[in-house]
Amino acid sequence: MILPEKFSLSDYLNSSFPCECGKNHTTNLKDVEISSDALEKVPNYIIRYSHKKSLIICDKNTYKACGEKLKQILDKSGCTNSLYILSAEDVVPNEEALGELMVAIDRDTDLIIAVGTGSINDLCKFISFKMNIEYFIVGTAPSMDGFASEGSPLITNNMKTTYPTHTPQVIIGDLNILSTAPMEMITAGLGDTLGKYTCLVDWKIANIINGEYYCPVIVKMVETSLKKVVDNIKLVKTRDQNVIANIMEALILTGIAMSFAGYSRPASGSEHHLSHYWEMKFLFEGRKPVLHGTKVGIGAVASDYLYGILKNKKIDFDKARSAAKEFNFETWKSKVKEAYGYAAPGVIKLEKEVGKNNTEKRLARIESIQKHWDEIIKVINTLPQVSEIERMLSELGAPINPAQVGVDDKSVYDGIIYAKELRDRYTLFQLLWDLGIEDEMAEKAVRYFKSEQNYR
Ligand SMILES: [Zn+2]
Ligand SMILES: [Zn+2]
Repeated sequence: MILPEKFSLSDYLNSSFPCECGKNHTTNLKDVEISSDALEKVPNYIIRYSHKKSLIICDKNTYKACGEKLKQILDKSGCTNSLYILSAEDVVPNEEALGELMVAIDRDTDLIIAVGTGSINDLCKFISFKMNIEYFIVGTAPSMDGFASEGSPLITNNMKTTYPTHTPQVIIGDLNILSTAPMEMITAGLGDTLGKYTCLVDWKIANIINGEYYCPVIVKMVETSLKKVVDNIKLVKTRDQNVIANIMEALILTGIAMSFAGYSRPASGSEHHLSHYWEMKFLFEGRKPVLHGTKVGIGAVASDYLYGILKNKKIDFDKARSAAKEFNFETWKSKVKEAYGYAAPGVIKLEKEVGKNNTEKRLARIESIQKHWDEIIKVINTLPQVSEIERMLSELGAPINPAQVGVDDKSVYDGIIYAKELRDRYTLFQLLWDLGIEDEMAEKAVRYFKSEQNYR
């Protein structure tokens, strides 16, 4: 029996759970050390798993934050190790960085210890998986939920693609380091966590409409850790170590939840798709990326706002059916080319493979939506008010309006209509499209964010 309300993070490690959803839930993550002297304990884990030669990988910032200290700790404890500092000022997880690491890693290295979050974690998790050696991550900020996940989003051929990887063997979260991370990184982690509100509603709705796999236990796991963070959110400002630990745990648990489900559904819904769409636009325009969790937080505001409008809307299902019948692939294709630019071929290829916009399938979904509309509304009603999410983020100085991070009206509008084409995953955005109301809802969102310009 899995009891998410009573379980702590360690209860999920090193075990396998037969679950009511029919799956056997398991993660390969062996240990998580979150404490105020976690860094000092790294040698214990190296010894526990009999690693002979470690390579510490940092960038210039994380070297200063704790890479240097970690090297001293390993040297002092007699663990054979070397250190590599990535050369870029802002590390991008692309082929160039992977190549740089390949050159730096000795053949007899049997453990990579990454020091960082985001890009460093993505790169090192991927490369250790490819080299078939173990991986530890020393988190330097509680900024995103990719620590424990079995995948690395990388930028290859200028496109962001998530590649399968292993999980780390050990995750280290030293609270003295995590709690002194830049506040914008902490609030990014919070944004990624708050994104679970809309993500879980998306999942349940996909389950209702399409009968997609759904696990109430995984949902409870994520909800429980989300609640723990939200209940103490005021203390984030003071960098209270217990609250920082809660955020880090929530981010790790989400990664475990993804392993349990076998895909990223428990962590990523419409708010993430919007964030990915904006990220891709920034990449094409050569602009400096915004932190993942920061964009997800804004995406959650957008999705939650739209859900709030949707639940009070009178739906014309006949109009939805007409819209489905009028769908024209060629028109869609030319709009996708405009919205996606370089990435359009991949998006069109996905549609050809999975046919998520296929009229027959869409008509069947409309039937199902109509039949289950009351049930869908009940699920939407579990969401917090959009003002609630906005307040939690803005009180900590985190952006809540796309304009605050340089996302313009057109990208908001296009994101709501076209972000759904990035993945074959049913979320709020497919629902709006199925109902034939995506245009008016996107316009409403643009107007809403314009009216919130005081947050600029
Ligand atoms: Zn389950
Ligand atoms: Zn995320």
